[in-house]
Amino acid sequence: MIRTLFIQILFITLFTGGIYAQSKEPAVQEKAPIIGLSATYETGQNSVPNTYIIAVRKAGGIPVVLPVTDDPEIILRMVEAIDGLILTGGEDLDPLRWYGEEPLPAMGAIVPIRDFFDIHLARTAVEQGIPVLGICRGEQTLNVAFGGTLYQDIPSQVRSDTPVKHNQRAPREYGSHTITVTEGTVLHNLLKDVLEKDNTFRVNSYHHQAVKDLAPGFIISAYAKDGVPEAIEMMGNPHVLGVQFHPEGPVSQGDHALLPLFRHVVEAAR
Ligand code: MN
Repeated sequence: MIRTLFIQILFITLFTGGIYAQSKEPAVQEKAPIIGLSATYETGQNSVPNTYIIAVRKAGGIPVVLPVTDDPEIILRMVEAIDGLILTGGEDLDPLRWYGEEPLPAMGAIVPIRDFFDIHLARTAVEQGIPVLGICRGEQTLNVAFGGTLYQDIPSQVRSDTPVKHNQRAPREYGSHTITVTEGTVLHNLLKDVLEKDNTFRVNSYHHQAVKDLAPGFIISAYAKDGVPEAIEMMGNPHVLGVQFHPEGPVSQGDHALLPLFRHVVEAAR
C-alpha cells in the first residue's frame, strides 16, 4: 500500500516535472516591430526618403510606407496594423483649415489631402496607444493635431536678439545650429550621452515653420537660441515625441548620436 503510494507520488513528480521542463524551453524569437512611415504625396506617387527607412532598420524596426488617404476607416486599419508610427517631414500645414489663421505671404506649399491624413494618423495613433515620433513637419503635425498653432514663417514672424538660420545650406547630416534640451524631459534622457555640459547639441535644420502656441497636454523639451521650439513631448505619455530637426539625416549616414530617438519608438512598439 505504502509502496503503491510512493510509486504514484514518484510518477506524478516525474510527470509534472516533465511539464515544468517543457515550459522552460526557450521562447520563440520576438518579432521585430513594424514601424509605419507617413508618405509624402504628389499626384502619381507616395514616397518616403530612404534616410528614414535606413534609420528605422538600424533601430531594429521593420519600416512600412503608409500611403496618403482621406478615409478615416483606412487610417484606423493602418494604425491597427503597425506597432509604432513616424510622421515624416514635408510641406507646410494649411493654417486656415487646421488652426484658423489666414495664410501669410511667406507661407509655403500645402497639400490638403496629406494634411488630413497626417493629422488623423497622429490622433488615431495616440488614441490607439502606439508610440509616435514626429519629425519636422511631423512634430508640427502633432502640435496642430492636439490643438496647437504654428509660426507660418520664422523669418517674418520671430523677432530675437539672437536670430538663427533654420533653413541650412549644408549637407543633410550636418548640424548647423544648437538646441538647448530641458533637463528632466524624455528627450534629455535619450540624448544624455551626447549632450554638451550646458545641455546643448548641434542639429540640422530644414524648416521655416515651427511650434508657436503649444498644444494642451504637451511640453517643449528643446529650444533654439532664438527661442524657437525644437522638440515637444506629450505629458504623461513618454512615447509621443516630436523633433523639429531631422535625426534620420545623420543616423542614415552612420552618425548614431541620435539613433536613441528611433530606438525609443522601436522598443516601445515591442
Ligand atoms: Mn531649427
